[in-house]
Amino acid sequence: MNKLIIHQFECLSDNYGVLIHDPETNQTASIDAPDAMAIKKELENKKWKLTHILVTHKHLDHIGGLDDLKKDYNPFIIGPKYEEESIELLDKTVLDQEFFDFANRPVKVIHTPGHTLGHIVYWIENDNLLFAGDTIFAMGCGRVFEGSHDQMLASLNKIKNLPENTIVYCGHEYTIANANFALSIEPNNKNLCSRIEQVKELRSENKPTLPTTIRIELDTNPFLRTDSPEIQRSLNLLNSDSKNIFSKLRTKKDSF
Ligand SMILES: [Zn+2]
Repeated sequence: MNKLIIHQFECLSDNYGVLIHDPETNQTASIDAPDAMAIKKELENKKWKLTHILVTHKHLDHIGGLDDLKKDYNPFIIGPKYEEESIELLDKTVLDQEFFDFANRPVKVIHTPGHTLGHIVYWIENDNLLFAGDTIFAMGCGRVFEGSHDQMLASLNKIKNLPENTIVYCGHEYTIANANFALSIEPNNKNLCSRIEQVKELRSENKPTLPTTIRIELDTNPFLRTDSPEIQRSLNLLNSDSKNIFSKLRTKKDSF
């Protein structure tokens, strides 16, 4: 099977737009619709026609461009059943563990409540790709706006269990802030220290620090590392339950 072409670009203040193009079927999907103007510009540059939009969750910086893009391209819009009342224009709603087809390969829907209750991520196993929206970021995770900390931890555990070589695209460039927090909690993590050097260099050249991989996040993302003794000591929670550790980490990060 031919490879999908992924095109990532920054838009709004710190969102990422992602286009997935399949040269064989000529299908092109946008992950979310953060900014219709920016997405149109990228589509025109690439000479791609938008055929699908895969929505991860209902926040305006992920769906604000749906209207305009629907008018211009009439794409088939797929989104979470759990948030259908908050997202207009959905042509198809999907549930946890459901599959649908894009570019002749199955896309699996994984429900990851926490950031919002209906948040979903899209996994294309065939191409080792995960489109994670605002559930996980480089060295961080989404703010828990609607769900509980326990729900968010369970959602991150679903992501953590995907194959290590999975390439992960995220909704935002929050990497430097996340890195500073991670370093404050686990300063002796060598993988973390070397990653921070890399991402600082990338950002100083205005380059994206994403995508990432599950392996990289397992090594450096404190929210996936509740079993790290150093993190546990930093939080005064040595050998405590992963739920307590995650909750304290998320609370600390909220005011970092
Ligand atoms: Zn969001």
